Amino acid sequence: MMKKTFIYSLLFLFLAIAGCNNGKKADDTIRQSNPVFPKGEILTSEHFTGTVWFHMMGASDSTLHTRFGNVTFEPKARTNWHSHPGGQILLITRGKGYYQAKGHPAMILHKGDVVEVPPNAVHWHGAGPDGEFAHIAISLNTDEGGAVWSGPVTDEEYEGVNK
Ligand code: MN
Repeated sequence: MMKKTFIYSLLFLFLAIAGCNNGKKADDTIRQSNPVFPKGEILTSEHFTGTVWFHMMGASDSTLHTRFGNVTFEPKARTNWHSHPGGQILLITRGKGYYQAKGHPAMILHKGDVVEVPPNAVHWHGAGPDGEFAHIAISLNTDEGGAVWSGPVTDEEYEGVNK
């Protein structure tokens, strides 16, 4: 009887310790703040406002007709107005940002949101004013052509997002 109680006590102690190990660790916060995918290099492009980093993620000669990469925007950085002949998918991985289709109110985006951009829909995407914003951009049906670029999103258009 004593032996059985002792074994149960050991089992309880073991489970209690295992439970502690599954709890929050001191480095959890640090780990969560790390980006999931590399930030890449600063993008040198006339089609963006502000500093933007780009990390290409897939082979460009793919038979899947898809190009995808991780795009990181500094606060207020954004694409020009543009469209994609084959459409685009945005998977938000970090921060707060915006997506706006021409003639429509802007959508506020957070980590975990998904945007499906229809073919040829004129739009822009970029960061909110308070922090970095990142999304994976997947351009679809790229055999139909690359992005068609238009003019910058003016400060007036950008500030108008929250009005
Ligand atoms: Mn786009």
